[in-house]
Order: sequence, then structure tokens, then C-alpha cells
Amino acid sequence: MFNKIDELNIIFLPFVSHGHLIPLVDVATLFAELGVIVTIVTTDANAALFRSKIHRDSVSGSRIRLHTIPWPAARVGLSPAIQNLSTATPMAMPKVLEAFLMLQPQLEDLIHEMRPDCIVADIFYPWTTKVAAELGIPRLAFNGSSFFGYCAEECIRAHKPHLEVESNNDKFKLPGLPDVIEMTKSQLPSWITTQDDFSRFFDVIKESERQCYGIIMNSFHELESSYEEHMNKVLGIKTWSIGPVSLLANKEVEDKEYRGGNPSIETTNLLQWLNEKEPKSVLYINFGSLVQTNPNQITEIAHAIRESSHNFIWVVKRNNEDDDDIVNEGFPKGFEENMIKSKKCLIIRGWAPQLMILEHESVGGFVTHCGWNSILEGVSAGLPMITWPLFAEQFYNEKLLIEVVKNGVGVGSKKWWHLGEEKQEIVNREDIGKAVDFVMGGSVEALEMRKRLKKWERQQQGL
Ligand code: UDP
Repeated sequence: MFNKIDELNIIFLPFVSHGHLIPLVDVATLFAELGVIVTIVTTDANAALFRSKIHRDSVSGSRIRLHTIPWPAARVGLSPAIQNLSTATPMAMPKVLEAFLMLQPQLEDLIHEMRPDCIVADIFYPWTTKVAAELGIPRLAFNGSSFFGYCAEECIRAHKPHLEVESNNDKFKLPGLPDVIEMTKSQLPSWITTQDDFSRFFDVIKESERQCYGIIMNSFHELESSYEEHMNKVLGIKTWSIGPVSLLANKEVEDKEYRGGNPSIETTNLLQWLNEKEPKSVLYINFGSLVQTNPNQITEIAHAIRESSHNFIWVVKRNNEDDDDIVNEGFPKGFEENMIKSKKCLIIRGWAPQLMILEHESVGGFVTHCGWNSILEGVSAGLPMITWPLFAEQFYNEKLLIEVVKNGVGVGSKKWWHLGEEKQEIVNREDIGKAVDFVMGGSVEALEMRKRLKKWERQQQGL
């Protein structure tokens, strides 16, 4: 057995999507900072996103390295550069998943060859629990979502309250949770409401989470302590709450600027634009690394921005230059020229340096799709949020933020969306405008939210 931390050799296996990859690389760098010998195993395009950060960390003394493995693009008919859900078009996403699942045999061989003392693997590697057992070492799962989301989903899986309501929009209670929480069937993920290959894969994931040594959670005690306790004591799952990792692992300017990719805007221009604005006057809109916004929704957001008295930074996802036609669809004629002239809205097509933007004093609010990383990053920056959940576990996260943490207002999104599906609920400009005024205006509720956020900020700084 090893007693000393600097003799520990740990392999980290991140999943191939920015929302999983970015925080697990943050976790790996934090382990390395403590003296652990860290190897992050991923494919070359994914490794390239972090090479400069890992280099900087190793120059400053961390024993951390990237180990790349081949990506079976040709076997699934993908372009070799597409190694990640976040860089894939919706059409190509199933192929990325197929290629990802093909990595198992070569990873198993690698793990046996490297003989680590521990494996920290994203939940999407359920098989690592068994491999770790064969080697007599622990596997820690990395679950990049909230305690609340975990508990809510376990409750729905166990009690199936959604089967007792008649329509998709009828409310049902989630029994046994620390707060009274209501949801509708239309807000639930497809892996709960439908039996298919993906839901069966989730069953395997859940089983391996129960059997592994424990789960690393990117959260912090003050934010959702009763759900942390519920997970430990009621569900009996051992966890470590080590977040928000965005805050702990990205202290240097370069860390914030290049986290997860090269920004699609000159950061000097971005900072100049922000520096000219009043404190807390800018609302930042970003739907994460996977969502290509529907053109009809683009039109509604553009109108809401035009009619608002506030400033905006609006990030529109763009995978590559071939996307330009799609990415420009939906913008009203002359909108962008107008925004450039009036300096009211800065549009970033592609990748935004999110941490840098959120932490700027001119930013006063965040419109988020409720990806867990974005929520934590918003909370860490002390920002009230407009919640706009779309897919995955985002409706649970919205519940936590609005009803438990009380730091958000919903834009009114009601229906879980199958990522990439053309048919999508469109939120109209009036509803967007109302939420914007609520958060950016001086309402008592909005001021209360800011006060609560200040308290956490002080707690996190140990004041
Ligand atoms: N992100 C970023 N710039 C972008 C889009 C996303 O830095 O333009 C980062 C964001 O800071 C977060 C992650 O990518 O760390 C997205 O994770 P999240 O859980 O919020 O959503 P997902 O992309 O998984 O839907």
C-alpha cells in the first residue's frame, strides 16, 4: 500500500464532450497540484485543447502529462478531426458515441500496462469499475452534475411518480427529497421516459456508480448540503464534493482565456468592449458547448435584445467555417451591423472564454441552459441567472437553482429536448424580455439574489 501522496499514480479518463472533459481536466490538475503523478488519457484532438495548460502546470512543478490514444474515426465514417460531441454536428453525434465505445479494448490494455494505483473515470466509462477490481485498485467515478440532479433522478427511478400522472404537463411530487419538489413528465430526460439502448446504457452506468469506490462531485457543500447528505446517508453513496473546480484550478489569466479551447474573439477586443461598460450592465448569453440554436429562436433572442435597455454578450455556437450559413440563419436583417454600431451586443460565433467573461465586473447576469458547469461558474462569479434548460439533466439543475438556491428566474422553457432534434420549443421575445428585466432590473428579488451570492463568495474566500 502507498502511504505518501507523491507516490500515487492516477489515470484520469475524461469523456469526449467539453462539459465533461473540461471539469475532469481541472480535477486532474488539482490532484497533480497535491503531488499525485497524473496521466490524462484521451485522443489527440481532445488532448490539444489542454496541451498548453498541462505544459504550464508541469513547468511549475506538477507531475502531470497527457497520454494520447488513437481515435477510430474511419471505422465509424467520421472525419478524423471530429473526436468530441462538442465539435460534431448533431447528425455526427451518434458516430462520436459509437467511436467512443470502441475505445474500451485499447484502454483496458493500456490500464493493465500502466498499472496505476487508482482510476478516476467519467461516469461514461462504467466498465472501469470492473477493470479496477481486477487490478485490486479503486475506481472513482467523476459525475459532472449536481447532487440535486443525482438525488432527483434516483428518486424518479425508484418511485416512478411520473407514471401516476395523466398528461405530460401534470405536476408530480418527488417523494423523499429534502425539499418539496414538483416536476412534469415533459421535463424528464428520454432515458427515464423511454426504454432504448441509451436508457439501458444509463442502467449500466448507475450500477457501476453503486459498485465503484465512490464518486467525485463538482459541487460545494454550502450550495446543496442537504442533497449531499441525502446522497451519502439515504442513497448510501460515498462522495467527495471538491468544486467548484473552475474556480480552484484556473487562477491564471491564461487558464481562463484558453480553458477548453482557443477563443473565437481577440480577448483584447473583448476586454476593451467590456471595460467600456458600466459595472453589472451586461447580460451574458451562452447555451454551452453542444447547442446549435434553432434559427427561429435566434430571431426571438435578437428581437428581445433589440428591445431591451441592457447590454449583451451573445455566444452562438459554431463548429467550423462550413457552419457559417447555418450560424447566420435567423438573425434579423441589419441586426448585427446595428449592434456593432451601437455597441449594445457583442456576438461571439464559436468559443467564448466563459470564465473570463463571467468574472468581469461589467457582467451582471447570465442566461444559461443550466449545464452544471455553467451554473457553478455563474454562482462562482456571483451572478444571478436566467434559466433556460433544454436537455440532459438541465431541468433538475434549474429546479435546484430556482427553488432551493433561489438564484435564478426561469425563461419559461417547459419541454425536454432531444439534443439536435429539429423540433424544439421556442421561447418568445416577450418572455425573454420579462426574465431579462427581472434579473437586470433593480427588483427586490434580484437584489436578494445578489446578496445571497455575495454570502457564498465570502464563504468560499474563507471570510
Ligand atoms: N464553455 C466555454 N465557452 C463556450 C461554451 C462553453 O468556455 O463558448 C465551457 C463552459 O465554461 C463550461 C463548459 O464549456 O465549463 C460547458 O459545460 P456545461 O455543463 O455548462 O454545458 P454543456 O456544454 O455540457 O452542455
